[in-house]
Amino acid sequence: MVDLSDTSVTSDPRWKAFNGEGFMCSCGWKHIGLFPINLLMPMSWDGDQTYEEDSALVMDRSFLSASYCVWQGQSFALRVRLPIMVKGVTPFSFMFTVWASVNKSDFEAYVAAKKAGTLKNDIKFPARLINRLAGFHDTSNLMGFAFQQDDGWPPLLLLAGEQPFTNRPDHPLITEQRNGIEFDRALELFAIYGHDMREAAAKARG
Ligand SMILES: [Zn+2]
Repeated sequence: MVDLSDTSVTSDPRWKAFNGEGFMCSCGWKHIGLFPINLLMPMSWDGDQTYEEDSALVMDRSFLSASYCVWQGQSFALRVRLPIMVKGVTPFSFMFTVWASVNKSDFEAYVAAKKAGTLKNDIKFPARLINRLAGFHDTSNLMGFAFQQDDGWPPLLLLAGEQPFTNRPDHPLITEQRNGIEFDRALELFAIYGHDMREAAAKARG
């Protein structure tokens, strides 16, 4: 991890206001501090969009719950978290929740470990992002590793390694996840997803 502690977003009055009284948002709500942007299903999901219970998971047909997706008994995906550090305020991150396609054996091992309460932070497995994130050049099929989380929260997805499905090894999402983003970029990403707080942020700048 890059040491980003020498940047100064913590002394940015906008950061203090965002985490204090919060920012009014174009969505009509007030947001206090960073919140996740949730992509509710894999981009190619063509089945019923109502979640079943995680505990009802079946492997031999199509299935969608808050944590798991099976497509026709053939493809397997997990809900994962994709963090993008905001420079200077680590460990606070801008967070997407997205879907990642994984091997059947890794999927089964994850489900079993979650059920048994034996998830371990250092267990990782190959994962392929299967959502397109607005605000970036096509992000689908970017490769990385999903890391189990022993607190039971969705695995963390770190994009890294060879990228066989894109001709951009310098893909902006990979670069931003590696290097972190400025607060203004976080505000831009929120706005792209319908949470425009830039007017309130500008006022907080004073
Ligand atoms: Zn909002």
